[in-house]
Amino acid sequence: MKIAILSRNKKLYSTRRLKEEAEARGHEVDVIDTLHCYMDITSNNPVVRYKGEPLPHYDAVIPRIGASVTFYGTAVVRQFEMMGTFAVNESVAISRSRDKLRSLQLLSRKGVGLPRTGFANRPDNIKDLIKNVGGAPLVVKLLEGTQGIGVVLADTNKAAESIIEAFMGLNANILVQEFIKEAGGADIRCLVVGDKVVAAMKRQGAEGEFRSNLHRGGTAEVIKLTPAERATAVNSAKIMGLGVCGVDILRSKNGPVVMEVNSSPGLEGIELATGKNVAALIYDYIEKTAKPHKTKTRGE
Ligand code: ADP
Ligand code: GLU
Repeated sequence: MKIAILSRNKKLYSTRRLKEEAEARGHEVDVIDTLHCYMDITSNNPVVRYKGEPLPHYDAVIPRIGASVTFYGTAVVRQFEMMGTFAVNESVAISRSRDKLRSLQLLSRKGVGLPRTGFANRPDNIKDLIKNVGGAPLVVKLLEGTQGIGVVLADTNKAAESIIEAFMGLNANILVQEFIKEAGGADIRCLVVGDKVVAAMKRQGAEGEFRSNLHRGGTAEVIKLTPAERATAVNSAKIMGLGVCGVDILRSKNGPVVMEVNSSPGLEGIELATGKNVAALIYDYIEKTAKPHKTKTRGE
């Protein structure tokens, strides 16, 4: 097959692994810098141009779109979709997953386990917002945060009020969430490909840290999932419409609850922690699924 990997940096572990695995399987693969693509959107013969030439037709595109380039990146993926290229993750699904609130709303509508969560921009009654999610301890999150930055634990209702007021003063959109204490500073990253969890790891926050992000000094180890966790991860990927994603789950006393669904999950942590060849499993999926003009949404 002819495959394009959309990535800003071909030196990144995930990009390198996807490229080397494609070559090992005899595919023709190009790594294309998303931001260097340009296109004539009015032409009825959609193309993507790159370095002065139109790109050839690809059977599949693997988008690795960083959060900071979501807007332009999804436009490029959409153009490939209009050319009939199979996108491992479609543009609409990527945009959807980048909006934490929209994602939680869609997941909650389908009955996926979630922490009790409130959302506010200008609540007239901060006390009620806090009461509504069960009171302290609770977690206040910036809607636009990544890698655990902008995720704050408030031990008391008073502290929660001050934190919410401070974020409001910065005109930030926030989520207020029940604190899942029993997770013990750990979360579970499930790597979903198609309709299967192909690898899972437990990430444990550094000593005294409730956030388990590896960027915040957390450590990872392989973990065995319960059937409920497996079903939650697969179901979440399906609801989000993502072919390849990372579903982050906390173990709560009421069963698995989803934190977020990541449409460009890193491969390094999970391949190292589990010893699995996740890149190869992604190509198993592409080889089985990629058909021309199979895109569901075509950017709608
Ligand atoms: P980001 O997208 O910035 O990584 P998350 O919402 O995933 O932010 O939060 C970062 C980490 O903080 C999570 O992986 C989890 O370990 C911890 N965390 C977040 N929300 C909660 C919560 N409601 N209860 C317990 N721990 C939480
Ligand atoms: N209309 C789009 C779709 O179904 C967006 C729906 C949504 O994510 O809210 O693909």
